[in-house]
Amino acid sequence: MKKIRTITLRGVKYKVLWFKDPDKLIDFDGRCNKQDKIIEIRCGLSARDTNVVLIHEIFHAFFWDLDESVVVDTAIDLERVLNQLNK
Ligand SMILES: [Zn+2]
Repeated sequence: MKKIRTITLRGVKYKVLWFKDPDKLIDFDGRCNKQDKIIEIRCGLSARDTNVVLIHEIFHAFFWDLDESVVVDTAIDLERVLNQLNK
């Protein structure tokens, strides 16, 4: 999977940082920092999980007012639809 380094969301450029955590000390797979314009994604997830996490963080960047549960469900559903398109 290609590791993109930047994405532009609603005209705002975000850095994408891919972090390694071999000892599993970090308790999140992704994180979006609106103030610093940084999205962090865990390395080593499956392709589908990486997509879900990236979609999830992109939703946070788009819509800061959404509840976490809405972002979780929407990211999973959207990844599933996109995955079906690629079969
Ligand atoms: Zn979230």
